[in-house]
Amino acid sequence: MKKVTLYSIALKHRIRNLKTELIVLLVLSFILTNCSNEDFEEQGTANLDSKATYTPERHEDLVGQTLRIENAGSGLWARISGSSNYSDLQVANQSHTWSWTKWIIEEVEVDGAYYYRFKNESNSKRFRPYSATNTSVYMAPSGWTGSWTQWMIVSQGNNEFLIVNRATNTILSASTNTDYTSAQHVSQTDGEATLWSFRDMDGNLYEEEEEEPGLHAAFAEFDEDETDIYLDGDNVVIETTGYPNHTSYYWGEGHELYLDEDIGANATPSTIPGRDASAILTVSADPQLATSSTSTQLGTIGISVSGAAIFNDQEGNGPLNTGVARGLDYSGGHIGPSVYHYHLEPKAFTDDDENLVGVLADGFFIYGRKCNSTGTYPTDLDVSGGHTHTTQHSDGPEYHYHIKNELYLDQYYLIFAGDYQGTPSNVM
Ligand SMILES: [Zn+2]
Ligand SMILES: [Zn+2]
Repeated sequence: MKKVTLYSIALKHRIRNLKTELIVLLVLSFILTNCSNEDFEEQGTANLDSKATYTPERHEDLVGQTLRIENAGSGLWARISGSSNYSDLQVANQSHTWSWTKWIIEEVEVDGAYYYRFKNESNSKRFRPYSATNTSVYMAPSGWTGSWTQWMIVSQGNNEFLIVNRATNTILSASTNTDYTSAQHVSQTDGEATLWSFRDMDGNLYEEEEEEPGLHAAFAEFDEDETDIYLDGDNVVIETTGYPNHTSYYWGEGHELYLDEDIGANATPSTIPGRDASAILTVSADPQLATSSTSTQLGTIGISVSGAAIFNDQEGNGPLNTGVARGLDYSGGHIGPSVYHYHLEPKAFTDDDENLVGVLADGFFIYGRKCNSTGTYPTDLDVSGGHTHTTQHSDGPEYHYHIKNELYLDQYYLIFAGDYQGTPSNVM
């Protein structure tokens, strides 16, 4: 009896929509007699409405599951209007629990991006927009699996998602809040009608896993013997011995890393071995630009990939002068009353290139004089030598500093003479 009732409701509805369906079928049959399926798949101009573009997200947990797709505005469930080809997608109230409201989520990988198809459990057809302009969404014959049947699932927070068509860049939307709304529209209209959530058959909401910020790829460049780098909640802790992992005059004669350089008269008197140079810097794993800059201080302002400290352009008694500079080793370093540190481009690991230099106390990375984004000297640096571009360690643009390609004392390149553009932590 129940079955009969459901079918009679569906029948009534079909009669109501017969006129619309006839027109759609007439148009479709015209198209189909003139084009192959392949041509049809390619029809229409994608991104007609370019109000927004979306980035595909991967939702592995949804794949292969049978779920209900619930409209956030109305609480109604997506369902099909009939089991034949070209039947409309509808929304229906939650008392309609039959297979027409159940969807199997399929994943498609295209060039490393992930798209999803929604296959109805009842008829195994997948929905797609009727055209690239804002029109109805209908059930495509099951052989049609091209980009028109593929959708991005784009998180909008609160476990609600936009369902964005890959071919047309249009959004799945409920056209009204009424049960059996005859068609879903795809449009760029904002609002709750365009938000959807996913529930399993027990009513459990599909919840996105909170992504913990990972350790930035750049930290893999730091010397593993001299540094220990790990996440602590939302922060990164960089522990270092403070010893450079390369040769230097300042290791002192007899040490295996000692390098005999002709700087003796200008050299500072101390040597590296035997001193406790260890330091700990704790910075945000996701550093942000501050509203105002902060000047650097004497002492350690950052930790380099070699393990040794980065200093600014100052000595205790004033700016680095020619006499002091002559006493620096080939890598722009020397040792003062405290620890071995660099003032200049540390040529042991960056020499007129785009190599990573280290991380400063505000959590931003500093690179050599060239930028990976262009392969040459950046021309858009701010007063601190920073700019926002992609690096060899990032998937997208992010703020970072460079050693400025500007001569100091006619022959040197300072590592970092600017202010911090982020919020510095204390080096302990
Ligand atoms: Zn110094
Ligand atoms: Zn750059």
